[in-house]
Amino acid sequence: MSIKKPIRRSRPNSSNRSRSSYARQRSNSVIIRRTRRHHYRRQQKKKLFTYIWVSSAILIFCIILAIIFIPAKENVLPVDAPQISSVLDTSSIEDSSVLQSSLISSIVDEEYQRAYETAAQIKLVNFDHPNYDDPDNLVSLDSLLSDAVTINSGANQLAEPAALALKEMFDAAEAEGITTYIVNSAYRDRATQQSFWDNRIAQDPSYGDDVYSNPVKTVPATASEHCTGLAVDILCDSVPHGTSDYKDTQEAKWLADNAYRFGFILRYPDEKQSITGVMFEPWHYRYVGKDAAADIYASGLCLEEYLASFGLPEKSSLS
Ligand SMILES: [Zn+2]
Repeated sequence: MSIKKPIRRSRPNSSNRSRSSYARQRSNSVIIRRTRRHHYRRQQKKKLFTYIWVSSAILIFCIILAIIFIPAKENVLPVDAPQISSVLDTSSIEDSSVLQSSLISSIVDEEYQRAYETAAQIKLVNFDHPNYDDPDNLVSLDSLLSDAVTINSGANQLAEPAALALKEMFDAAEAEGITTYIVNSAYRDRATQQSFWDNRIAQDPSYGDDVYSNPVKTVPATASEHCTGLAVDILCDSVPHGTSDYKDTQEAKWLADNAYRFGFILRYPDEKQSITGVMFEPWHYRYVGKDAAADIYASGLCLEEYLASFGLPEKSSLS
């Protein structure tokens, strides 16, 4: 059995104390260096962490911005791209729009001018616009109209344009099976018309004193459209005289619906008596030409109103 010798601690002497002090200093120095290194590493880690955190934040921020602005960015032209104003030349668009507007007003003006010139050719004859002229272009209806039309004696003349239009209208009616028209009255010379008026005045001196309040059926030669050769009284076999029941015949209805297509207007409508000064005459048609007739038919105006819409007749023609 072995017996361990106790370790004998030697007592420190001066030499030993010096070595111990050196070791202690060296140990402290190592600890300080380690502590500094540790602190340095911590600082470095902290910086790295801060750097990563800031970079991540910037990256996220950029991603958010990109999401927000990418759709808008698609419409953004590069700086050196031609600007939209020069590509589309908006000044030319404005010019084009102005040009179109100008063209439209030009067309409207031209149409108005044409309608005005047509209207200005229409002779207005009534109590306020007396006519003293005789037509110089009368033609006979006898050889012109179809045998389907009855022509009363003394009613066989019209101004040529009206006569040709009347033939066209009766031919159209005949083609639709209406063969019972009567030309009851057409051109009347001034002496005949004036005799009608004089006879009427002889019976009633106050007749025609205020035609716009009390419309008349008979007019003087100066106010009669029959004296111009442009008016015609059209009746039919079933109602051969100018009475109110004529308006209900198929012949009268056909004329009311179709006469404008041939240049004729119903001259004295029922609802316009206070303007025309003449009683409702569903048989009296006035030739004004197809364009004006169509406008008057469509507008529902009487001739006085239609011409007044153009400022016609002009004042100079009133004198
Ligand atoms: Zn008449």
